[in-house]
Amino acid sequence: MVIGGGQSGLSAGYHLRRLGVDFVILDAQSTPGGAWQHTWDSLHLFSPAAFSSLPGWLMPAQQGEEYPDAAHVVSYLRGYEKRYDLPIQRPVRVTGVHRDGELLRVESDSGTWHARAVISATGTWWRPFLPAVPGRGDFGDFGGEQLQTVEYRRPQDFAGRRVIVVGGGNSGAQIAADLAHDTELTWVTQRPPRFLADDIDGRALFDAATARRRALDEGRTDNGGVASLGDIVAVPPVRAARDHGLLKATPLFTRLIPGGAEWADGTRAEADAIIWCTGFRPALSHLSPLGLRGTRGHIATMGTRAVDEPRLHLLGYGDWTGPASATLIGAGRPAREAARQIADQMR
Ligand code: FAD
Repeated sequence: MVIGGGQSGLSAGYHLRRLGVDFVILDAQSTPGGAWQHTWDSLHLFSPAAFSSLPGWLMPAQQGEEYPDAAHVVSYLRGYEKRYDLPIQRPVRVTGVHRDGELLRVESDSGTWHARAVISATGTWWRPFLPAVPGRGDFGDFGGEQLQTVEYRRPQDFAGRRVIVVGGGNSGAQIAADLAHDTELTWVTQRPPRFLADDIDGRALFDAATARRRALDEGRTDNGGVASLGDIVAVPPVRAARDHGLLKATPLFTRLIPGGAEWADGTRAEADAIIWCTGFRPALSHLSPLGLRGTRGHIATMGTRAVDEPRLHLLGYGDWTGPASATLIGAGRPAREAARQIADQMR
């Protein structure tokens, strides 16, 4: 049983099928594409198509775009499901995974399944993280519009308005760049933004994540992996906004006030809207009945396998479930490993 029909769940399906394992994929979305169906309009991949491929089938190039857009990824994932005839049931939301003797019982809004092994591949998009900032809460002082990364679509929705974008990662930088031309933008980051060198794209990130994993596995020093290179991939729109002087970051404010934000020295910025691009956490609430231990919202794993529940594998949540496993090109290897272990378990 695979929970989640995004790129991680599909990669798992590809390998399970090759190994002759009987399985089903349950996906909460009504249509193929996982999180890629919900990103903002201008989002483009940070790697060329061929370097954004799942196992077995190279992503076709997108006409006129070296770095494909999100709609192209959705159509690739749709094609991938069809090509490998993956058994996906939609929309099915898993509500809880429970131990039930020899089996795991998977409860959902559309029925109950029993499985000898479960792969959880539910992503992070569905659980955006919001920091505790005075004045932010539902009954806080600000009073204006507040959105999370997952709710942002296009700059036209904010044209002519005063917008604060919070976050110094890729989402924050890309949304700030998207808004820089049409709004009165304040870009706020916890520490000064760290742009990767302009010639570094997703390929280098994948190599860095893989080298780090290898070093850790061999007991060598942690070289910091991707984090050592920087936080923000200088994709063309980000680079252009930065080079035009439109991406100047301000340190994080200390609190929200009616109609804006305030810094410790009393400086204030007025705002009509605040967009929180402050990261994601793994969407794992369906696993809480298993009572697995972990830290910072993670579950303790050996490779992809849960240490305290060997019938459970986790895929695609970040480097802790495989180097670069939360990227298209990185999803395949941990999926193969999980599928192999499950096939061995079935024998
Ligand atoms: P998802 O795509 O989130 O799929 C999980 C699926 O599980 C969804 O369909 C969801 O509805 C379903 N689900 C969730 N909970 C349940 C449940 N309880 N029951 C049943 N189904 C459930 N990667 C790259 O390789 N290149 C890039 O350029 C790139 N850019 C990115 C830009 C942004 C802004 C973000 C946020 C990510 C980017 N990534 C990129 C990272 C990565 O590829 C995506 O996060 C990817 O969508 C993760 O795939 P996934 O299958 O693990 O999760």
